Amino acid sequence: MLTPNLTVNAKGHLCIGGADCVDLARDYGTPLYVMDEQMIRENCRGYQDVIAKEYGGNGMICYASKAFSCKEIYRVTESEGLGADVVSGGELYTALEAGMPAEKIVFHGNSKTNSELEFAVRTGVGRIVCDNLPELSRLQSIAAAQNKIVTVMLRVKPGIDAHTHDFVQTGKIDSKFGFALETGEAKEAVLTAMGYQNLKLSGLHCHIGSQIFDTEPFAEAARVMLRFMDTLRESDGIVLPELNLGGGPGIKYVEQDDPKPFGDVIRTILNAVHETCDTLSYPEPYVLFEPGRSIVGGAGLTLYTVMAKKIIPNVRTYVLVDGGMCDNPRYALYQSEYEAVCANRAGEPKTETVTLGGKCCESGDLLGENMPLQSVEPDDILAVLATGAYNYSMASHYNRNPNPEVVMVKDGEARTVIRRERYEDIVRNDI
Ligand SMILES: *Cc1c(COP(=O)(O)O)cnc(C)c1O
Repeated sequence: MLTPNLTVNAKGHLCIGGADCVDLARDYGTPLYVMDEQMIRENCRGYQDVIAKEYGGNGMICYASKAFSCKEIYRVTESEGLGADVVSGGELYTALEAGMPAEKIVFHGNSKTNSELEFAVRTGVGRIVCDNLPELSRLQSIAAAQNKIVTVMLRVKPGIDAHTHDFVQTGKIDSKFGFALETGEAKEAVLTAMGYQNLKLSGLHCHIGSQIFDTEPFAEAARVMLRFMDTLRESDGIVLPELNLGGGPGIKYVEQDDPKPFGDVIRTILNAVHETCDTLSYPEPYVLFEPGRSIVGGAGLTLYTVMAKKIIPNVRTYVLVDGGMCDNPRYALYQSEYEAVCANRAGEPKTETVTLGGKCCESGDLLGENMPLQSVEPDDILAVLATGAYNYSMASHYNRNPNPEVVMVKDGEARTVIRRERYEDIVRNDI
């Protein structure tokens, strides 16, 4: 199985975290997102451990909640000692409602609105990562109006060209995020931020992209950032105490994927930090990491009911399910590959190759193509694996499909953490 928390029971049913997926589909309906709490907690602990062991605990792991945001995930990650990375007023609101301490929240975004910034300043968010000069100036005015000193970091593009899909490549110069290093923009931003009375610049941030398997681009980004911090010390006597190294590494979506364990990747990055600081005689900064996908991605799956099967001779076989791009737009967006398993035939070999089609009115509404699958029939339960990240959080109401329920399983028991939307919810704001 793709992840160690998936098993097949004596009935030949797929189980996640000890819970039978066929029972879950019957009890909660489909489509259904299922998240394995134990695996999420183990991932949180894995991150906490590596910071403790390799870096003397001089850092913080902030769960990148855009991967999957709801109250319960903030409670679970907070109880494991993590902070949270939020990217909008909505995520910030959810985190605060769930009891995530404001000082453990890092607020990101390249187009934060004034009302979002006012909300963050008013609630005492620990760090605001500024993306551009107009934002810095607006934040200064907002902080002054509230008579507060706000801790800020600056998002820098370190110019790293990591080998991943273009859409999730954010560290190179042609990116909408952050200040470029090469052009002097980043230095100008540092000096500007230092000049604002109500802003306290604690350090720099970079995020080179998502779903990256290579370790070296992460380590190189850390070196580039530290060398830049060193030049600021030499030219202007500025020593910044914090460095935020962004998101975590890629995860296993299909059998062929072979990512390194995230602990090894973070260890290598921290070694690069140690070595570079040593070479430059630069004080080791407090570090932050913001993993999302590697905490929740592999811990989730989505259950669907097979509605129909269309065999087009010499072309392809479509298996049509009761969800689609409205609950998982990632194949439609970036041809992200997934693995599917027939939950009620999980013990059978995969003898077919299918295209998984959704229920939305788009030909591109597919969950995958060329997917090996057991021979399925209508009413079978299908599981699409590793959907814990960027699925529920990217869900839409296209075709006015209500958002599915999310359950969390622990020790074989499931509980609802987000209720299934009803038609009444869909029209709630209609006049
Ligand atoms: C998306 C993002 C993350 C999380 O990335 P993962 O690949 O899910 O770990 C962290 N930080 C920033 C700024 C991001 O944009």
